[in-house]
Amino acid sequence: MSEKHYAVAVDGPSGAGKSTLAKAVARELRIMYVDTGAIYRVIGVAAQRRGIDPGDEAAVVSLLPELEIGLRHGEDGLQRMYLNGEDVTDTIRLPEVSMYASAVSALPPVRAYLLEMQRKFAREQSVIMDGRDIGTVVLPDAAVKIFLTASAEVRAKRRCLEQEQRGTPKPYDEVLAEIEQRDYNDSHRAIAPLKRAEDAALVDTSDLDFEQSKALILKTIRERVDA
Ligand code: C5P
Repeated sequence: MSEKHYAVAVDGPSGAGKSTLAKAVARELRIMYVDTGAIYRVIGVAAQRRGIDPGDEAAVVSLLPELEIGLRHGEDGLQRMYLNGEDVTDTIRLPEVSMYASAVSALPPVRAYLLEMQRKFAREQSVIMDGRDIGTVVLPDAAVKIFLTASAEVRAKRRCLEQEQRGTPKPYDEVLAEIEQRDYNDSHRAIAPLKRAEDAALVDTSDLDFEQSKALILKTIRERVDA
C-alpha cells in the first residue's frame, strides 16, 4: 500500500471502460478498487428474485433490511459480491440485471442506504472507486476526479465484444439501444444524476486503446497526488 492516503473517483456512463481501467490502475498503484455499480446490482438481483418491481420504492425499501450485502476482495484483488452469504459475483453481470440495477439506483432511499458503506472504504484506505456519482456525491473531496467517457457507438461495440467473449452474444443495435436508454436514465434521474463534477478531468477513450487509456489515467492521477 502507498503511504499516502488518497481517493480517486472515476465516474462515467456505462461501457466507458471504468471497471477494467480502474482495476488495472489499482493494481499498478497498489490501492483498493471499489466497483460501486456492483453494489446496486446486488440490490437489483434481490428485487428480481423476489419478483419486485424495481421502480416500486416502498417495495424495494421494505426489502433492504433483509439484505446482507457483502463486498470482499480476494487474494487476486478482485472484488466479489455476496447476497446474504451467497456469492453473486457472476449473477450480477447477467444482462437482465442491468435494468434492475439502474431502476433501484434511482430510488433515493437506496442511495442513502449505500452512501456510508461506500465512504467507509475511502476512509479506511486509498481507493479508486468507480460509479456515477463518486466525484459529485460520495467522495466530493476526492484528491483526483476523473470523468471517463466514450461515444455511445464505441461503448456499444465494446460491450458486444464482451458479450461475445462471455458466450452470450447480442445484436449491436440492441446493445446500442440499451446503452442509450441507460445513459438517459442515469443522467435524467432526480437524485445523483450522472454528470461530470466541475473539477473532474475529462478522459474520452473513444479513440484510445486500453494501454493508452490506462496511461492517461495514471498521468492524470500522478499530476495530482504522489502516487
Ligand atoms: O456500473 P454498472 O453498470 O455496474 O452499474 C449498475 C447500475 O448502477 C447503473 O445503471 C447505474 O445506474 C447505477 N449506479 C449508480 N451509482 C453508482 C454506480 C452505479 O447509480 N455510483
